[in-house]
Amino acid sequence: MCNRSSTRIDNSETSQFHLNSNILVIGAGFGGIAAALRLKAKGYSVTLVDRLHAIGGRAQVFEKGGFRHDAGPTLITAPFLFYELFELFGESLDDYLEFKPLDPWYRFYFQGGEEFNYRPSIEHTYEEIRRFCSEDVEGYANLLQASKAIFKIGYEKLADKPFNNFWTMIAQVPSLMRLRSYKTVAQLVNSYIKHPLLRQAFSIHPLLVGGNPFKTTSIYSLIHYLERRWGVFFCMGGTGKLVEELHNLAERVGIQIILDTDIEEITINSGKATGARAVSGQVFTADRVICNCDPPTVYSQMLGLGHRRRKRALPESSNQYSMGLYVLFFGANKIYIDMAHHTIWMGMRYKELLSDIFDKKILAEDFSLYIHRPTATDSSFAPTGCDSFYVLCPVPNLLGNINWKEEGPRLRDRIVTALSNTIMPELETTIRDDFWMTPEDFKSDYRSMHGAGFSIAPIFSQSAWFRYHNRDPHIPNLYFSSAGAHPGAGMPGVLCSAKVVEALIEKEEQVHRAS
Ligand SMILES: Cc1cc2nc3c(=O)[nH]c(=O)nc-3n(C[C@H](O)[C@H](O)[C@H](O)COP(=O)(O)OP(=O)(O)OC[C@H]3O[C@@H](n4cnc5c(N)ncnc54)[C@H](O)[C@@H]3O)c2cc1C
Repeated sequence: MCNRSSTRIDNSETSQFHLNSNILVIGAGFGGIAAALRLKAKGYSVTLVDRLHAIGGRAQVFEKGGFRHDAGPTLITAPFLFYELFELFGESLDDYLEFKPLDPWYRFYFQGGEEFNYRPSIEHTYEEIRRFCSEDVEGYANLLQASKAIFKIGYEKLADKPFNNFWTMIAQVPSLMRLRSYKTVAQLVNSYIKHPLLRQAFSIHPLLVGGNPFKTTSIYSLIHYLERRWGVFFCMGGTGKLVEELHNLAERVGIQIILDTDIEEITINSGKATGARAVSGQVFTADRVICNCDPPTVYSQMLGLGHRRRKRALPESSNQYSMGLYVLFFGANKIYIDMAHHTIWMGMRYKELLSDIFDKKILAEDFSLYIHRPTATDSSFAPTGCDSFYVLCPVPNLLGNINWKEEGPRLRDRIVTALSNTIMPELETTIRDDFWMTPEDFKSDYRSMHGAGFSIAPIFSQSAWFRYHNRDPHIPNLYFSSAGAHPGAGMPGVLCSAKVVEALIEKEEQVHRAS
């Protein structure tokens, strides 16, 4: 049995909230939900708190004019990580949800009018590559082999293992050197692929987790193999439906969910976390606190001054953040039947544009876009005869000096014109019910530091032991299960983060029982 102490009531606060719980999870993004479920399955009392009106974190759902939009993640890879959450309680995800395999996984559109379909069948993918450069067929096969080797270490040995101990990192150094992890994703891809457009297509993966392919450690090339191994899926009804069913599961198993509650401070006494206090004055007491919120925000805003010491090997002032995101949501009075579910619309510039976004932090005139068209797979996202979209445009985070009140509407117009002139004819007249999010919304809604889309960037000096640890080095009962902590962003990343936290707590309990 797990070691559980009795409920405590904090009488010292003006307003108090009696919490019948041992574990308080702050933030109900996927990392928070998964940690809550995993620890509930272990027998703990768990309370999950979020400042928003619905769980899901970045996976909120917006509705306007009869159009439904998933606000964030849509592309499901490593689906077993979601299956596991239901299996913890003897249930099956298939009884509630349908993960539909996609084909193509995604389509690239280039400014010369070329299209490249990245497909689940390797033979079909080879055919697509051959249309660009026959030599690159072998190059891609070799890239996949390299990706598999990285996956064997980077995913199987590192992703769901605690990295709190420097010696764990040291033990992996020979493997990391052998796999040339000091190289960037772009360097690795370019060593196998010759065609300039295919080089772009096969190196964009770090952008899915907030990194510049020319700066991100090649460990993230494991995503190639991860996609091949398990496929790419869409959850029918959208990611919002997935969140809804996780909410139902959490309620069925007795997790207490408290929404619209912004935690102002994690309370510390004698070096241990004792709970948290909300902006409203509510006080939560707990034996352990798990943060799903952004670690840089926690350390700079949610801990008392005495505890804001540096928590990573490198000082927080040296943090490098992922890019910001501008997300344009809209419906169309027309069905764009030829549009794939996922399209990556590449702009004229690649490396230089990424440098504008990540290094110079300026909003360039040109852009590259990711376009989500859920109606390609699930017509319930739009009224009859209409289509539903979101367009994601990587932009500088708030460390850039961009006036989003002015630039937001301008960027909207530029994107609509560019799409009208290329793959979405007449969009300028068919578009309706549009609205957008800027990095300022990511900061105000999710309390994401500098409005970054994916917390700190996935560079080598911010990975594994160098990333925010899953347990604070100084406060032994404060944990992190979120994109900013090991192993990193993306749904598979944060679901693994929850596994690491579960393993850490389990280990502590074993030690406690043995003593
Ligand atoms: C537009 C977009 C598209 C994406 N597409 C994909 C995709 O297709 N596939 C994929 O795998 N990944 C994708 N990602 C990445 C993925 O969504 C994220 O990395 C992941 O969902 C982050 O989860 P998280 O657990 O870190 O929590 P988050 O989603 O960041 O949620 C954290 C929660 O904590 C809450 N919170 C913060 N501070 C407090 C506080 N003080 N008190 C109370 N609550 C607080 C916030 O309100 C929020 O709900 C996408 C991300 C975005 C933004």
